[in-house]
Amino acid sequence: MTQVPSYDSAFITDGDKEQFIESLNVPEELKTVPGNPTRPADERYHAYAYPEQPFFRTPNYELYDAYMGRQHRDITTAKSHSQVATEMHGEELEELRKTVWSYHLKPASRKKDPSEDLAGALKAKAKEMGFAVVGITKFERKYVFKDFKRRAKFKNLVIVGIEQPWEPVQTSPSIESYMSNFKATIPSYSLAVGLADWVRSTGYRVQFVVASQGGIQLSLAPVLPYAVAAGLGQMGANGQLLTPMFGSRIRLCAFSTDAPLSYDKPVDYGINKLCEKCQVCVRRCPGKALPKVKVWWRGALKYKTIADRCLPMLGQYDGCSICIKVCPVQRYGLKEVLDHYNETGKVLGKGTDELEAYTLPNKGYFPSGQMPVFSTEEGSRGMIAMGNKLKLRPVRRKRLGHMPGIGSEASQTKVDI
Ligand code: SF4
Ligand code: SF4
Repeated sequence: MTQVPSYDSAFITDGDKEQFIESLNVPEELKTVPGNPTRPADERYHAYAYPEQPFFRTPNYELYDAYMGRQHRDITTAKSHSQVATEMHGEELEELRKTVWSYHLKPASRKKDPSEDLAGALKAKAKEMGFAVVGITKFERKYVFKDFKRRAKFKNLVIVGIEQPWEPVQTSPSIESYMSNFKATIPSYSLAVGLADWVRSTGYRVQFVVASQGGIQLSLAPVLPYAVAAGLGQMGANGQLLTPMFGSRIRLCAFSTDAPLSYDKPVDYGINKLCEKCQVCVRRCPGKALPKVKVWWRGALKYKTIADRCLPMLGQYDGCSICIKVCPVQRYGLKEVLDHYNETGKVLGKGTDELEAYTLPNKGYFPSGQMPVFSTEEGSRGMIAMGNKLKLRPVRRKRLGHMPGIGSEASQTKVDI
């Protein structure tokens, strides 16, 4: 089994980062733009006219939450995702939840740190604490969720993340992989509280903006556009941030601050074009939830995941995550993928069972080229029925629609891209 190389926090300080980007050797034909293409005027229009709500405030989330609870082997009470997380981490999580929700405003010191390179000092501190990535960007209000527009405080955003371990993710979908997500998420929040304390000790204020997994559910804004703006990666066809070291195997947290920090810049890692050539996650997604073409969506050119098709898979298969598992950047690291592309013109691992195969508990083993078939009851219809049984908020069928392709011949067809 090819192991992903250890990048050992290569991304933390600016010097390390530049060296790392240079070593990647992105081929000319994969270069597009730093970050992902956006139309800022369209983004601002949508933010003003149709502001979004966080996922956990939507009826879809209630269904997902209940489904995930069911996955945790308690079908009778269908405990929620958050309840399970609280049971796992008990008081620690409860304490953390209170802290990140109320953590803002006051600096711990009256004296402001006069140092010119506070951003450098913060990154060095983050590295010392064990974060795998850290980025700083402007806290743009255009992405802030509807109910939190007035709550968002400071101008600068610090995004930090720790790596979700490699081994369990390769077993996705599995309870081991799902739990490894939790196990990485909670410590990343505890560490972030420590880093926020450090910022407060320099005389500045802090407000947590994103700590939205593991039952904490604080999300004033989505973290991914800021992570892209801070150069931590680019959005992949799997609808997630692809960091060059870990792919989407990274657990992020973010806080805003009034500390004077210099911003990082978005980077072109070649991922926009690489995804067009790769498409492994698109072909291997059991719910057919990942479209192969990009669309302009709220001012961003992106692969728009079809949530209605993804959610039943997430719920039934321990958080699914096949689209993370089968991504060559996650498995081998971007440097290996680009080196292989430079030598052969091909995407590393594409078409191999090592990268593409997975097992679904009640369906069996699916090597590269073979896909599971589902009945409509295993798709959205079954999910809606369960929601009704649990007396969750009604989700209109139009919203969580029928899943075409599931249960049909089409889902058995091998797609060559
Ligand atoms: S989590 Fe599973 S169903 Fe959802 S997009 Fe990824 S592979 Fe598809
Ligand atoms: S599997 Fe391929 S197409 Fe999908 S996100 Fe990873 S690199 Fe992009």
